[in-house]
Amino acid sequence: MEKVRCLILGGGPAGYTAAIYASRANLAPVLYEGLQPGGQLTTTTVVENFPGFPGGVDANTLMQGMREQAVNFGADIRTGVATAADLGKRPFRITIDGSNEIQADTLIIATGAAAKYLGLESEKKYMGMGVSACATCDGFFYRKKTVAVVGGGDTACEEALYLSGLASKVYMIVRRDVFRASKIMQERVLKRENIEVLWNCNTKEVLGDGFGVTGVRLLRKDGKEFDIAVDGFFLGIGHAPGSELFAPWLETDEAGFIVTDGFSSRTSLPGVFAAGDVRDKTYKQAITAAASGCMAAKDAENFLISGE
Ligand code: NDP
Repeated sequence: MEKVRCLILGGGPAGYTAAIYASRANLAPVLYEGLQPGGQLTTTTVVENFPGFPGGVDANTLMQGMREQAVNFGADIRTGVATAADLGKRPFRITIDGSNEIQADTLIIATGAAAKYLGLESEKKYMGMGVSACATCDGFFYRKKTVAVVGGGDTACEEALYLSGLASKVYMIVRRDVFRASKIMQERVLKRENIEVLWNCNTKEVLGDGFGVTGVRLLRKDGKEFDIAVDGFFLGIGHAPGSELFAPWLETDEAGFIVTDGFSSRTSLPGVFAAGDVRDKTYKQAITAAASGCMAAKDAENFLISGE
């Protein structure tokens, strides 16, 4: 059975950065990219806030660059998804794609987070038939149509702005009377003529005709229930961490984010480190994920040197 010194799970900014640092430290890391090589960033278009790119940078270009940089230093980057984990003793055992087992002296979990859904039956029914959590992936289908975006954070604002360039009308369904988003995003949304914000509204039901989404039933805080006609329904209500496989072995918080020791990437289990969105419910930026990937590689290196 294959055994490695450092196994990294996750192909986002955290995983790739961990691979850059771990390969430069001669840990010969193996990285499995998971379901979404490039990570969540690949579902966006231009990244405007990654330092060093004054004019912004295409998200895929940025991720390709990180990946290539890791490969150049000798990281072994592979396609595959971790499907089971046994962290009961060292070396840790991880199953990839249901069958291929790999052992590791140290494990860096950088599995990120995935979009949250409201949990409505009707939302599930029309998934991929008008319901989506990725405006940049699916927005194209709604050119000159009407769509709704749920949520009042930066994700929802970003989705609404993107969609407003394609669709003729965008509703934002916000459950309070304020946005959670940053001021700059709020201002952009409120300035955009074809975005209408429906404040104090919750989604009761996604409406459809059996073939696709036709509308949304909303319940306003004052008790008024009403329908809006839309062709697409986009989720922008945050993300859940990809920690399920590891939760039996590691301390996680109530939302499932992996708990780390102070500022470090050390989890509750010696030899296992967490980086990026799987441990971060506050900052969730490409730059913070990359930085924590660096920390995880350095923590893994120190762990191996100390021979704990
Ligand atoms: P947030 O947690 O910041 O916002 C989630 C939004 O969805 C809130 O408005 C919340 O409402 C609402 N919401 C949550 N659950 C429900 C529900 N069940 N029904 C209706 N509404 C719901 O998540 P984001 O994904 O927007 O942002 C996460 C982090 O990522 C933030 O730090 C953000 O700044 C960052 N980010 C930055 C971007 C950028 O800089 N370009 C782009 C995207 C994200 P309420 O406010 O009432 O809780």
